Amino acid sequence: MGNVYNRNRLVNHLKQNSRWDIIVVGGGSTGLGVALDAASRGYNTLLLEGVDFAKGTSSRSTKLLHGGVRYLAQGNISLVKEALLERDLLLKNAPHLTQVQSFIIPCFSLLSKYKYLIGLKLYDLLAGKRSVGKSHFINKEETSLRLKTMLSDKLLGGIVYYDGQFDDSRMAVNLAQSCVDYGATVLNHFKVDEILKNDAAKVCGVKAIDCETNISYELNANVVINATGVFANKIIKMDNPFAQKIIQPSQGVHVVLENTFLSSKDAIMIPKTIDGRVLFVIPWKGKVVVGTTDTPVKKCEYEPIALDDEISFILSTLNSYLDKQVLRSDILSVFVGLRPLAIRKNNRKKTKEISRGHKILVSDSNLISITGGKWTTFRKMAEESIDQVISLGMLEEKKCLTANIMIHGARPVDLPQSVYGSDFEHIKKLSMEHPEYSEKIHPALDYTKAEVVWSIRNEFARTVEDVLARRTRALFLNAQASVAAAPVVAKLLAKELRKDDNWVEKQIKVFSELANNYILNPQ
Ligand SMILES: Cc1cc2nc3c(=O)[nH]c(=O)nc-3n(C[C@H](O)[C@H](O)[C@H](O)COP(=O)(O)OP(=O)(O)OC[C@H]3O[C@@H](n4cnc5c(N)ncnc54)[C@H](O)[C@@H]3O)c2cc1C
Repeated sequence: MGNVYNRNRLVNHLKQNSRWDIIVVGGGSTGLGVALDAASRGYNTLLLEGVDFAKGTSSRSTKLLHGGVRYLAQGNISLVKEALLERDLLLKNAPHLTQVQSFIIPCFSLLSKYKYLIGLKLYDLLAGKRSVGKSHFINKEETSLRLKTMLSDKLLGGIVYYDGQFDDSRMAVNLAQSCVDYGATVLNHFKVDEILKNDAAKVCGVKAIDCETNISYELNANVVINATGVFANKIIKMDNPFAQKIIQPSQGVHVVLENTFLSSKDAIMIPKTIDGRVLFVIPWKGKVVVGTTDTPVKKCEYEPIALDDEISFILSTLNSYLDKQVLRSDILSVFVGLRPLAIRKNNRKKTKEISRGHKILVSDSNLISITGGKWTTFRKMAEESIDQVISLGMLEEKKCLTANIMIHGARPVDLPQSVYGSDFEHIKKLSMEHPEYSEKIHPALDYTKAEVVWSIRNEFARTVEDVLARRTRALFLNAQASVAAAPVVAKLLAKELRKDDNWVEKQIKVFSELANNYILNPQ
């Protein structure tokens, strides 16, 4: 059998299938979770992603697997409990992509010490036997020792607590592979542009275009699930032009800095910024991720732009805690994600107060839309949506299996972990067979040509952006260096996908323009 993840093979499979049980629209965490749930229950499943897996919000998260300490403060106990259970499942089912991360909340008064300690003890309690470490108080000396770059004036001490951390877009890619492993057909760069209806005005499929060939397909299905995140309103309008919007987007900005600004394996959690949010300062892949903001926006765009005010807010908050001041010129990359917050009826709340819980909607024509939620809870969201489809009588009943499914690449927890999991051996072999592939793609980026070739052959990477933004995380870790690496990556892609020099030139240009949004102009 040829490579199961090969795009031509998957497109051929799509052509040969005259009817699907389920078509999932959107390949972020929500859609991939739904497709894996459906395929593993044994339904004939197709997932179509308009750009690339995790191109939307799912590559732009804070990369935490968490119950959400803030949601606890809002009294949303059931949401926190559910997410803590899911955190545990992900740590178990994807040990190559997840890890436990310690956080320290700096305390400057006795009141804050006891407030946060009690809150976090409750957080531990809610996790029960799934707790990943007990929260506790550390004194000023230990806090300063562990957070060397933190200003220690007026510091009383810190509260240590533990949560999960992961690589979001790699999780998405591995989920797409898992879907294929369970018999689903998943295609990126394949956009849905129409919802098809039968004579009874019920949804019976979609019209979609293969963005690589511009060939359009009419695809039939018993169930169509709209899992397009902040773009859900568009699909809902395809179903019913008069339908109400269900999504209210809100933008969250992160900046990435050199590790010297934190120099710690502990993350910092600033529990209350002046706008009442939390700010995380987290070690990630040898750099530091700082974020995030919460700014309501009107338009849903693929590449939202950070506002100047948002950058200033992050830097000024950070600089009020750090010894070494961060300048705009220190920022290696800025990435922005849009929260697909579900609109509730009569909603007059500020976006940070809108529930992060998810919502499943069934339209009169039986289009199922699933929105809101978190990366952490994607599995549970998927289980609930397929259960809902079954309870509507649209599919025969089959049990959900995903709580016990190991994500593609997972290897036993006690073995040394690489982000590629069990695929790491294959990448090593590729480097040994082609010594030229062991070269790095750029001196400042810890990625080799072998990883790029592997991602093209086995991880559905089709463009320079797919490789540099979501198979490797180069664009997020060091945007300038990723632009410099683009020609190397474009040539490897052209060789593997048999593209000509014009294609290479165009890819480099398109990627460089996009990467400009991740690079700040110093002021
Ligand atoms: C700033 C920020 C930080 C966050 N941090 C965390 C965190 O630390 N932990 C956590 O658990 N959660 C976090 N979240 C929440 C989490 O990232 C999101 O809930 C989740 O990624 C949403 O995934 P989704 O699949 O619903 O949407 P998306 O990831 O946006 O996916 C939707 C997909 O649909 C595709 N699509 C759109 N239209 C079409 C079409 N016509 N045809 C085919 N495909 C289409 C898009 O290309 C896109 O890939 C964060 C969110 C934000 C914004």
